[in-house]
Amino acid sequence: MSDVKTYKMMIGGEWVDASGGDTFESMNPFTGKTWALIPKGGKEDAGRAVAAARKAFETGEWPKMTATQRGHLLRKLGDLIAEKADALAQTEVRDNGKLIAEMGMQLKYVPQWYYYFGGLADKIEGAVTPIDKAEHFHYTRHEPLGVVCAITPWNSPLLLAAWKLAPALAAGNTVVLKPSEFTSASSLEYAALFEEVGFPPGVVNVVTGYGHEIGAALTEHPGVDKITFTGGPETGKRVYATGAAQLKRVSLELGGKSPNIVFDDCDMENAVKGAISGIFAATGQTCIAGSRLLVQQSIHDEFVDKLVAFAKTAKMGDPMSMDTQVGPVTTVPQYEKILSYLDIAKDEGAEVRMGGGKAVRPECGDGYFVEPTVFTGVNNRMRIAQEEVFGPVLSVIPFKDEEEALHIGNDVVYGLAAGVWTQSMRRAFTMSEKLRAGSVWVNTYRAVSYMAPFGGFKQSGVGRENGQDAIREYMQTKSVWMSYATETPNPFVMR
Ligand code: NAP
Repeated sequence: MSDVKTYKMMIGGEWVDASGGDTFESMNPFTGKTWALIPKGGKEDAGRAVAAARKAFETGEWPKMTATQRGHLLRKLGDLIAEKADALAQTEVRDNGKLIAEMGMQLKYVPQWYYYFGGLADKIEGAVTPIDKAEHFHYTRHEPLGVVCAITPWNSPLLLAAWKLAPALAAGNTVVLKPSEFTSASSLEYAALFEEVGFPPGVVNVVTGYGHEIGAALTEHPGVDKITFTGGPETGKRVYATGAAQLKRVSLELGGKSPNIVFDDCDMENAVKGAISGIFAATGQTCIAGSRLLVQQSIHDEFVDKLVAFAKTAKMGDPMSMDTQVGPVTTVPQYEKILSYLDIAKDEGAEVRMGGGKAVRPECGDGYFVEPTVFTGVNNRMRIAQEEVFGPVLSVIPFKDEEEALHIGNDVVYGLAAGVWTQSMRRAFTMSEKLRAGSVWVNTYRAVSYMAPFGGFKQSGVGRENGQDAIREYMQTKSVWMSYATETPNPFVMR
């Protein structure tokens, strides 16, 4: 294992091993081989990291900094990430198997979160209230919450960390970041950049280990003021319940089963591309995957033929190659989960129009690949239409008219995103208004930005990331009262 890289965690400005000295292996999903050893932190390490973050929140340079100085540091960090984007993207690909073409672009975009929230840091203003008490002055201040525990999933570790860290730090909090055990390496490399641009020790701590061990220990820790979590719905519910027991602030970005709705008045070529990018980009491993394709009956067969013909051109293979279009599945449990859903769909009577099993092709080597799959004949009550697969598996569901499209579109427990393909302005506005989803895309799909609030309706989440809404998730409002009366009233005489 000589070419295996060994990582350390970042706690209180020090690079450390897990307190028990244990490590676990991280696998490259394309080669199937271990490429890194990651510290297996536990409860004691969670405690050390929270204590370091608490100390940095209360003492030292960080609480003395002005919001403008914090903003400046964040912008410097953005510049450094831009400089290191290619190297960080390669670590992500080695660890999560996503395409270098996508991760390269993603990492070049990540600095924008630090520029945007760096700029916002000193623009969060309180107010002077025209208060209804004589000889009193009242104003509000927006203050940081304290120690933020940020937990991220394996699909886009550094992008999703930026969604949390940029607003949390701009607001003046300190952070303990715990990435997924499947993709910890990039977050540990990221920690070095915070150190390099001069964040005081303990402001950003990165700890690694298993979710049910160090992740749970962090969420249970009484020294954590806020949990910001992105991951699966079941873990999200557990984290929410743990936070509730101590009345912590909790925000959750969870799963989806998003409808991508194609009307018969759409531009068909564009809609085909939109449907494909909605489900096969990132091998379907995105929370916003348009995994339910609702197609109007009158164009159903023609549309599916075109979609399948286009999808078949996708080139699978080494995610490090710039011309690969569909890469491997990131984790072995996820690979097994996707294959089990293929069986469930077949048992439910869905018809395989394309794919439907493991991808065994020479270009896939020993990697964990699933054939891009299209099921037709799906009805919305089937499990394949209701449950998140998180893989390259599309369920096509026909509909008659707008009313039925809306009914089917909204008839899931999730509400993360939705797509609409139409040339009618009236229909575009009506559908955008009535779809119960945190993001609605019309004649486009998968667009996200640091400026645009993102989050879930229904069981897709609590709270918002990105845009100006996001920084408020990391702040609390204080009411300050001052009296300039010359005499304090007699407390026994009511007035
Ligand atoms: P997951 O299994 O829920 O894990 C998410 C994170 O939680 C990981 O860091 C995990 O650590 C940690 N964790 C596990 N058990 C925990 C516990 N008891 N207490 C605290 N933390 C714990 O999700 P995933 O499989 O990594 O990611 C896929 C899911 O994320 C999908 O459902 C997807 O839709 C969702 N997602 C949502 C968004 C969004 O913005 N809405 C974006 C991306 C992904 P370990 O990995 O070490 O177990």
